Amino acid sequence: MAQKQAITAIYPGTFDPITNGHLDIVKRAAPLFDKVIITLALNIDKDPLFSIEERLEMLRRSTEDIEGVEVAQFSGLVVNFASSRGAKVIIRGLRAVSDFEYEFQIALMNRKQRPEIDTVYLMPDARYTYLSSSIIKEVARHGGEVRQLVPSFVMEMLMKKFPKSISE
Ligand code: ADP
Repeated sequence: MAQKQAITAIYPGTFDPITNGHLDIVKRAAPLFDKVIITLALNIDKDPLFSIEERLEMLRRSTEDIEGVEVAQFSGLVVNFASSRGAKVIIRGLRAVSDFEYEFQIALMNRKQRPEIDTVYLMPDARYTYLSSSIIKEVARHGGEVRQLVPSFVMEMLMKKFPKSISE
């Protein structure tokens, strides 16, 4: 019988910053695949709050205890990066119906580029369905409470970016 190949999955995103919603997806994906590569998409259209190095550091620190997970960065098409790493799966998180239309379009376009790569959607715990990096930044900027919603190292980084607003 032919040996089964190890399955690598890519989890791409902007992660500006990583939230507990992203982390929930990573924790669900890790036992399903041999390797999960969280990949920071260097998308020049977006104007991130955190630098590439800061985002990589937050990703690494938040996932260092999860077995089979590594962190990488890429620019260009995610399917090309996936191919270069021998990954057959792209993981995305689905929070609500509102995510669906955009994700559907991307998944089919990715399939057109590389038919051998499939996109797998995972749903986070209901606690995180309203959570996004943008809402975290918005609330943190104005001094709101985000402690339960991001990993502790991310909380520290947010406090450095918005020192007065969060500690007040
Ligand atoms: P992108 O700019 O590619 O959407 P994000 O960093 O915002 O990058 O998100 C990366 C992936 O994580 C996307 O599939 C997104 O739907 C998913 N995601 C974002 N926030 C959450 C959350 N709270 N729960 C589950 N999945 C999420």
